[in-house]
Amino acid sequence: MSRFLREQLVEELKQKGIKDPEVLNAIKTVEREKFIPQSMAHLAYKDTALPIGYDQTISQPFTVAFMTEMLNLKKGDKVLEIGTGSGYQAAILYQMGMRVYSIEINLELHNKAKKLFDELGIRVYAKFGDGSVGWQEFAPYNGIIVTAGSPSIPNKLTEQLAIGGRLVVPVGPRDYQDLYVITRLSEEEYSQESYPRFIFVPLIGKNGWDINNIK
Ligand code: SAM
Repeated sequence: MSRFLREQLVEELKQKGIKDPEVLNAIKTVEREKFIPQSMAHLAYKDTALPIGYDQTISQPFTVAFMTEMLNLKKGDKVLEIGTGSGYQAAILYQMGMRVYSIEINLELHNKAKKLFDELGIRVYAKFGDGSVGWQEFAPYNGIIVTAGSPSIPNKLTEQLAIGGRLVVPVGPRDYQDLYVITRLSEEEYSQESYPRFIFVPLIGKNGWDINNIK
């Protein structure tokens, strides 16, 4: 049954403009209901964000698919995610054959996602901490995806991109953001494009919003 619902979701995402077969295949395979509270299992394959506790959300499937497509990765690439949350986005990247590093600033969500990765055999390097400064130890990355809205483009993240690598990050005020795709062209040069109007929970931390002053 849930396979059928995932196939329906994939059709909906195709109609909304998602083209990358690897992304669509991962959405078709990963069981989103495992990453949300059981009481919401019936909504797992609706194209909508859902609450996961602690004032946080699992992103809308379209947003996950669009951001993943924008990363433009190939199998075996190294990717850093900021904002593990439920673990769903990391699971999609893992399913696509990436080497996935993911950071979460909420300890409870970090612990929960780590346990779920173990249970499902998803080998993601997950760390508890402030991802707004990246994860220098394993840099450079072919892709960096930020799943929370940032007040500006975090420089620490662009610095940790490999040449040719892409950073996908929502940037803007608290109530809406544009999705920026920054490509590192050389040691010094970057190009950037943006896609309007997404809504994310805030990126907090050193290069994000001040946790005491985000409302
Ligand atoms: N990628 C997640 C998923 O698939 O469920 C969605 C995550 S939710 C929209 C954003 C997450 O970013 C929240 O879990 C939040 O705690 C986390 N977050 C916010 N600021 C952060 C930071 N500086 N470092 C790491 N995680 C952060």
